[in-house]
Amino acid sequence: MEITPRVHSIPAPQAFYAGPQAPNVYLVVDAGHGALIDAGYPDEASVKPRLEYLHGMAGPSAGSGQALKLSHILVTHHHIDHCGGAHALRQATGAPICLHPTEARLLSEWRAAASQNADIPAEPQTMDERLRAWRRATAQTTPDCLLQGGDTLQVGGVTIEAIDTPGHTLGSISLYLREEGVLFTGDTVLGLGTVAIFPPPHGDMALYMQSLERLQTYDATLLCPGHGPPVRDVARKLQELIDHRHERESQILTAVGQGRGRLETMLADIYPELDRRLLGMARVQLLAHLHKLQSEGKIARRDETTGTLYVLP
Ligand SMILES: [Zn+2]
Ligand SMILES: [Zn+2]
Repeated sequence: MEITPRVHSIPAPQAFYAGPQAPNVYLVVDAGHGALIDAGYPDEASVKPRLEYLHGMAGPSAGSGQALKLSHILVTHHHIDHCGGAHALRQATGAPICLHPTEARLLSEWRAAASQNADIPAEPQTMDERLRAWRRATAQTTPDCLLQGGDTLQVGGVTIEAIDTPGHTLGSISLYLREEGVLFTGDTVLGLGTVAIFPPPHGDMALYMQSLERLQTYDATLLCPGHGPPVRDVARKLQELIDHRHERESQILTAVGQGRGRLETMLADIYPELDRRLLGMARVQLLAHLHKLQSEGKIARRDETTGTLYVLP
């Protein structure tokens, strides 16, 4: 599916229902060369349509009638829905995988854990077995090259720049196609809604907000998110996400200032009508904000016998 002549999205059926937004896999193509941005899930139903799409690019649309040469598989972060298919796509195309050193380290930890986990059946049946099998497949993503903020690479005649955007994970990167002003953001910015930010060690809200501000400096004209539809008003989208997080923070500071600084009290105050199934995720978001505000000295944490209370310092 063409988004612009140089930017394609390669869909695949959702590997399992994890919400309405399947992960996006993009192909940047120029002068017969291509780079994948993210790789989708590792199961065959996800990988096969992507390979078929790449094969279909061979021919006149790839320029001068030659086969498309896939020069890179760029991975925004290590999560299964973005990184899972990378190894299988590398095996089929020979293209090198590039990712951030922090994500490479996290994948090597998964690899070490998977090697001790011999009880994953060849044909996983239950959801838990499938997840463990996918995690093991994802862990095969060893890096062929490392990418950090400021690094650039050429795809045909165009340049892709890596931007450090930690927060959703600590080594998340975004990618910027300079000639077209297109930002690929992985899970740092979604097409719809807001992404989950975990407190350390998995994520970091303070870094996340700095990452959004860093993306604002690029003046991109099109944003291709890790899930959901492309975003054309990039400046507005980024500002909305920043405003949303600032609003949460002021709600938290108000609650803490009123002596309502217990986690469960704040959850009820800030998310009064939340579906119970989303409560766990809301709690995580709140903890991520509390960690940020505490590290900035804006609140203090008091561990009492009756539980943790956040107070103004
Ligand atoms: Zn993710
Ligand atoms: Zn994702």
